[in-house]
Parts: sequence; C-alpha cells; structure tokens
Amino acid sequence: MSTLWIGTSWKMTKTLAEARAWAEALRDHLGGSAPTGVQPFVIPSFTATTTVRGILGDHSPVLLGVQNAHWEDAGAWTGEVSVPQAKDAGAQLVEIGHSERREHFGETVETTRRKVAAALRHGLTPLLCIGESAEVKARGGSAAFILAQAAGALDSLPAEEVSRVVIAYEPIWAIGEKGRPATVEELVDPFAALGEAYGGKVAGLLYGGSVNLDNAADLLGIEHVTGLFVGRTAWRLEGYLELLRIGQEHAAAL
Ligand code: PEP
Repeated sequence: MSTLWIGTSWKMTKTLAEARAWAEALRDHLGGSAPTGVQPFVIPSFTATTTVRGILGDHSPVLLGVQNAHWEDAGAWTGEVSVPQAKDAGAQLVEIGHSERREHFGETVETTRRKVAAALRHGLTPLLCIGESAEVKARGGSAAFILAQAAGALDSLPAEEVSRVVIAYEPIWAIGEKGRPATVEELVDPFAALGEAYGGKVAGLLYGGSVNLDNAADLLGIEHVTGLFVGRTAWRLEGYLELLRIGQEHAAAL
C-alpha cells in the first residue's frame, strides 16, 4: 500500500486561538496515529509554528511545515525566516514556490532551486509547488511549463535528494477564491507528464486547487497522483478530517 499525502496550508489565516483549536481537535481525533496509508501534514503561518508543534507533540504522525523559508541559514535578510529557524520552531517540511509567492514576492525558478537545496541540507522535506496560468494552459503549454519549473528546481540534485522532495501541481487557474475546480480530464495530461519525469523518483506527486469533498476521491484516482494539497476546504477541521477519511479509503483500495 502506498502512502497518500493529505495536507493543508493555512496561508495568511488563523489567529493563535484558532490555530490552537484546530490542532487540538486534530490531535484528539487522531489519537497518536495517522489514518492507515495516509501522511497528514499542516502548514500554518510562521506565528503558529511553535504553538501547533507544542499541541501535536514531538512524535505526532502529522508533519508540520512552514509556507516559505530563505535559502541562506542566517544573515541580513530582514523579514525572512531561514530553514534552521523553521526547524528550530518545529517544522519538518518547507513549502516552496507557491504561485502566490511567485506572483507577489518575486519567487523565481532560481530561488525555488536554492530553497529546495536549503531544506534538503537541513533534513527538511521540500514541498515544491508548480503550476501554470490560464494563459499558458490556453495555448496548450501546461505540461512543458510545469516540467520546466520542476526541472529548474530539482534537476541539479542527485537522485537521492530528489527522492526526498514532494511536488504539488497547483494550476493557478484552479486555486483560491478566483479559481475554478479542475476536471479530472484536464489533469490527466499534466500528471502523465509529471509521472513520466518524476513518478517513483520523488516522495509524492500531489494535486492542489479547489479540492473539495465532492471532487477529492476522483482527483486521487488520477494516475500518478499520490496526495492532495488543500486550502479552503481543510481550514475547517471537519473538512480536513473528511479529506483524511477519503484518503484512507482510497489508500485501502490501492
Ligand atoms: C492553494 O492555494 O494552494 C490551494 C490549494 O487553495 P484552495 O484549495 O483553497 O484552492
């Protein structure tokens, strides 16, 4: 049975009280073990990292991440957080290259390459986000675009290091409030391309973008998909628990 990654980034949401309530309820629900066949993960804002780590405990089956980290270990980088600092706060995973960071904060293929290397250097799991715009999709360039994003970040690494990376394919046109859910048909070709390039070589090939309780099972059924990376649906704990249940059911059938 292969492991399905089911996780959420909270983006810039949740106060500490809200983070605490979500994490405590998840911890109590899981009771110390992950649903069979599922690797849960949660990526709060930096401010909630230590709080969530404290609630989950050091031996939680839920991996804890941060939404970004700098490529340098320390230095004059005002406003940034390094991988060693994220690790010190309890993070095990680093989200890198989300399309919002590429669009609004100048993230490039080169910065994602450096950040993936930094996460690996310190033993954290890089969660590399890739995804094309509606314009690129309209001209039929989705697969080439996402493969170039992934290759730019990963292809200078030895195979052993690539095997520790999780890739999340998140088409920009499908994520967030302005996105529309992708159909299974739209995702078959991009995942075929990703599967050919990285299937069996990375730790996970996840899909993200308007995942909801109605489409999650179908999305997990797409060839080469080994997990879901979820925003809004998982911000309510009930939604996340239901996604874990769907993941467990899917894993059991593999
Ligand atoms: C995202 O923004 O990465 C994301 C997956 O969000 P949502 O699930 O809310 O579309």
